[in-house]
Amino acid sequence: MSSFPHPDRYQQMEYRRSGRSGIKLPAISLGLWHNFGDSTRVDNSRELLRHAFDRGITHFDLANNYGPPPGSAEENFGRLLREDFRAHRDELIISTKAGYTMWQGPYGDWGSRKYLVASLDQSLKRMGLEYVDIFYHHRPDPDTPLEETMRALDHVVRQGKALYAALSNYPAGIAADAIAILRDLGTPCLIHQPRYSMFERTPEQGLIQTLGEAGVGCIAFSPLAGGVLTDRYLQGIPADSRVASDSRFLDENQLTEEKMARVRRLNTLAQQRGQKLAQMALAWVLRDERVTSVLIGASKTAQIDDAVAMLARREFSDDELAAIDAALM
Ligand code: NDP
Repeated sequence: MSSFPHPDRYQQMEYRRSGRSGIKLPAISLGLWHNFGDSTRVDNSRELLRHAFDRGITHFDLANNYGPPPGSAEENFGRLLREDFRAHRDELIISTKAGYTMWQGPYGDWGSRKYLVASLDQSLKRMGLEYVDIFYHHRPDPDTPLEETMRALDHVVRQGKALYAALSNYPAGIAADAIAILRDLGTPCLIHQPRYSMFERTPEQGLIQTLGEAGVGCIAFSPLAGGVLTDRYLQGIPADSRVASDSRFLDENQLTEEKMARVRRLNTLAQQRGQKLAQMALAWVLRDERVTSVLIGASKTAQIDDAVAMLARREFSDDELAAIDAALM
């Protein structure tokens, strides 16, 4: 059996600075939203984590509610950490989040100080950690004063339960306000996590610019649109795909004829570049240097290899970018 971790792992990956912080993240990060809950095989989850780390992926992204059931991804991750990564905690950036429904009643959701502080304590217990590297507020709360939510993030950082504070799913305007509050509190926002892909370009309408100007990093989630921006669904719906295994997360109805026509056009462009569509889609998100990392999901180690191999073919000509825009119309 080959030794773990791979001695050359840091030569394979590119590390990009998150905004104006001291932290560099791998250009490719691994999310544990899928394939780490109780309904998946733990040996596959273990293989994915080890394989990612072997390829230089030092950042694993979680949230309180990842599973299913909610909390089980953190529990399973904690077990794998203890068993396989005990000697490597200081080589890892581990993130978690709170902001969506986690427990019953008025204190298990949204953005109160009560919820955030309790949820992080629960997450730390599930993962068996003393601290996470990054703690996110998972979505804006229209009813809680932004100051309260940001003070809660500042508080857990000062307690040492998180090293950095971060935001996810905040639109540009609210993100700017939150970033300013955090800066005034003395706990600068490390990074923002928006959905960003060829199919979801809203962050280009102000958010990425706001983050760039504020010196805040950007980590793009679902850069493959959950697997649609790959060759996965070109010949129908494979039995082991996300659509076939859990339609709550990716529904067959989303694979419209019009969308699949765009995917086929993009697939042709990727072939002309000599790469897979998944690779072109990831390279495209990383074309903007203000994007720190692409946050992928994977059900197989080969998908991690595809992502890492993308780094060798990342540049786009103006003509290629124009052709992609046209293919997306
Ligand atoms: P992606 O868009 O990267 O989709 C991942 C899926 O695409 C995989 O599970 C796999 O699907 C398929 N895939 C990946 N690589 C390939 C490849 N090379 N060829 C073919 N198919 C491929 O991201 P996710 O939607 O999974 O999200 C990634 C992470 O982002 C999450 O784990 C989570 O950490 C974070 N996230 C954050 C959110 C937030 O609100 N902050 C919301 C959603 C996600 P298959 O299973 O079919 O093999």
